[in-house]
Amino acid sequence: MKTKGLRNNKVNIITLGCSKNQVDSEVLLTQLRGNQIEASHEARNDDANIVVINTCGFIDNAKQESIDTILRYVDAKEEGLVEKVYVTGCLSQRYKDDLEKEIPKVDAWFGTRDLSRLLKQLNANYKQELVGERILTNPGHFAYLKISEGCDRPCSFCAIPLMRGNHLSRPMEELVREAKNLAKNGTKELLLIAQDSTYYGLDLYKKRNLAELLKKLSDVEGIEWIRLHYAFPTGFPMDVLDVMAGEKKICKYLDIPLQHGSTEMLQLMRRGTTREKTEALLQTIREKVPGIAIRTTLIAGHPGETQKYFDEMMEFVERSRFDRLGVFAYSHEEQTHSFSLKDDVPEKTKQKRVDQLMELQQGISLQLNQAKIGKTFTVLVDRKEGGSYIGRTEFDSPEVDNEVILVTNDHLRLGDFVEAKVTGASEFDLIAEIV
Ligand code: SF4
Repeated sequence: MKTKGLRNNKVNIITLGCSKNQVDSEVLLTQLRGNQIEASHEARNDDANIVVINTCGFIDNAKQESIDTILRYVDAKEEGLVEKVYVTGCLSQRYKDDLEKEIPKVDAWFGTRDLSRLLKQLNANYKQELVGERILTNPGHFAYLKISEGCDRPCSFCAIPLMRGNHLSRPMEELVREAKNLAKNGTKELLLIAQDSTYYGLDLYKKRNLAELLKKLSDVEGIEWIRLHYAFPTGFPMDVLDVMAGEKKICKYLDIPLQHGSTEMLQLMRRGTTREKTEALLQTIREKVPGIAIRTTLIAGHPGETQKYFDEMMEFVERSRFDRLGVFAYSHEEQTHSFSLKDDVPEKTKQKRVDQLMELQQGISLQLNQAKIGKTFTVLVDRKEGGSYIGRTEFDSPEVDNEVILVTNDHLRLGDFVEAKVTGASEFDLIAEIV
């Protein structure tokens, strides 16, 4: 990992899991540097003597990755390559008592709402004046904006409320200030994230206030694209669609995890909706925001999912023709409602069903992409890879969706918007020429 000669009180932050964890790590990084403490994020061959691992506790695979990472740094400590190992984030929040016994070489464990205590441990003080400031760990032209923490929904399979607590909206002024600071530092695309973004404001303003937040963020100079993630179908605030249709800066893009396509399964999963209501919502979204790209997430193999219910989900995917789709195999998570049900779908069947859904989606995605050939789109340039530039249209979120391979001899700047005509398409990528 690295040689001797550690730098005193230099912190290296390691982030696992989702974009919400990434934002938490960025806030920690900002607070540490604000306290004149040297800190880096996932720096390779780093000479930091302190490591903070921000873990994920979502489902089995993610938990295993977190534990493997912790053990790797505990080994590094044994070898004298680091002096202190601290663990924070969802896995620590959920399993602290067990982990403390199982991995005693970790110096201290922190929860998901423990920033002040963690900072204290690192000889730093929480600086209120830094709220709204953030050092980004991804290329600066896009940034995640976490609009709330936690979740009040009762979804039967989900352990997130156990790790992230109840829903807590961030004040609108604070979010607008953060967006302005990010724009000042070159951010052009804001990705709004939460556990449930459509719940925004219900706790703080006693009403769903996402539409107003979107309008306010649209007024921030320098921000060109605003992208909405993690919408919840039940009680969907329709005024959001009017703002999406009316505001040029808001991407015609909606990430709305639906989780299943069978009414019986949606009820078993405590999603508070039905197949019919879901299809009606999708139709309204597409009518109110023509050309919108819809991303969703589904779970295959939840307890009680018979072949019949799975076939209904396949039919739902075929009919709904989502632009982007992610599928998870059900993970039997302690302390969730579903944990009291028999995990009756064999692992092999779960995986087979995930593969069948993704195969179906691959065909749909190819057709949708081929229909874009000959059309011109605005593309945000993300990076250079080999001789090509890679970018995204407004219909694609970083790291999870399609990319555009830009064919050009020009020199492009990362973070620039270019007009590009699509000349080729594959399942998950487009090829385009600058026009
Ligand atoms: S809305 Fe999302 S985070 Fe909240 S309980 Fe449901 S699945 Fe979990």
